[in-house]
Amino acid sequence: MDTRTRITVNDAPGENTRNAGENIAASGALADPFGRAITYLRISVTDRCDFRCRYCMAEQPVFLPKREILTLEEIDRVASVFVRLGVRKIRLTGGEPLVRRNIMWLLRRLARHLHAGDLRELTLTTNGSQLARHARELAGLGVRRVNVSLDTLDAEKFRHVTRRGDLNKVLAGLEAARAAGLHVKINTVAVKNVNGGEIPDIIRWAHARGFDISLIETMPMGEVEEDRACQYLPLSEVRRRLEEELGWRLEREDYDTGGPSRYWRVRETGGRLGFITPLSAHFCDTCNRVRLTATGKLYLCLGQNEDADLRAVVRETPPETADAALEKAIRAAVAHKPRGHEFAIGSGEVRGRMPRTMNVTGG
Ligand code: SAM
Ligand code: SF4
Repeated sequence: MDTRTRITVNDAPGENTRNAGENIAASGALADPFGRAITYLRISVTDRCDFRCRYCMAEQPVFLPKREILTLEEIDRVASVFVRLGVRKIRLTGGEPLVRRNIMWLLRRLARHLHAGDLRELTLTTNGSQLARHARELAGLGVRRVNVSLDTLDAEKFRHVTRRGDLNKVLAGLEAARAAGLHVKINTVAVKNVNGGEIPDIIRWAHARGFDISLIETMPMGEVEEDRACQYLPLSEVRRRLEEELGWRLEREDYDTGGPSRYWRVRETGGRLGFITPLSAHFCDTCNRVRLTATGKLYLCLGQNEDADLRAVVRETPPETADAALEKAIRAAVAHKPRGHEFAIGSGEVRGRMPRTMNVTGG
């Protein structure tokens, strides 16, 4: 196994993969060796969270020391270089992005790229616990939609899954988002023996409120107390139940975010339903995204371990040359984006486990 996981500016992409990305790269935009344009950056602004979802992190996680976390100014700098290189969509995530102190400062800074027309979308994925406080300002900044994670509508089960969350706060956050005119997509992780039976009700509930909803398969990201294989509920099973047992008709939607989600319109509810199936079927061929962690590591793939240390570039380069150095480091890293991940779960076995949990990488 190749144990080298750090990419530096001097690393050349492999001979056999270099040509495909050269045409796009010649235009100055970011392209990987397989010809995929990189237009989407996800940023984990913190590894901290006010919840402890059982599939995401340990009950008593060891959070990163503050000095290792990029400052908001550093995040703005790195993100702005990405925008200059053709990134058109930025999603803030975490951990819980809305628990990071002064996070609205960063959103206000990044919104300048929206107003300048350089960024098409600025958005975030949140657990919703702090959304009631921020929804109006987010909408005012030009954020048009948010993804809100919600795995159950049962308050007790919600507290169990999140180990501390208050469902009512999340529901209030969703209401505030709706009132502010934000388009909401609910993200629901399908967890075996936890919410499988409730999924049709969650879909009906979401669609009745005009929310889209995506179902997500658990991924083997980091060690948690519970067995990953026991948590895994294939979405093919969920879908079979919706179609065969409930008789729902799902019509393919022509709506593509370049991600691992495929969307369907449910005739019976009129709403949009996505299936994020990184394990049972993956869509790496059209992947357009890279991920920046809270510590400034750039990951080229959720399910691979190679990273580039952009924090070192930001902190060790004089400010006058930092943007140029970042551009060089980002281009070198993207030239190493792998073709796809290696996650797999089958008959009780899990392959492609990642050492880092989702709150660190940014889901
Ligand atoms: N705290 C925010 C939230 O929960 O929406 C943002 C960060 S969270 C890591 C982003 C998404 O990743 C959430 O929808 C969460 O349910 C999902 N997630 C976390 N761990 C996961 C895992 N091991 N497999 C699949 N999805 C996971
Ligand atoms: Fe926090 Fe989101 Fe992870 Fe839940 S899924 S513990 S809300 S980061």
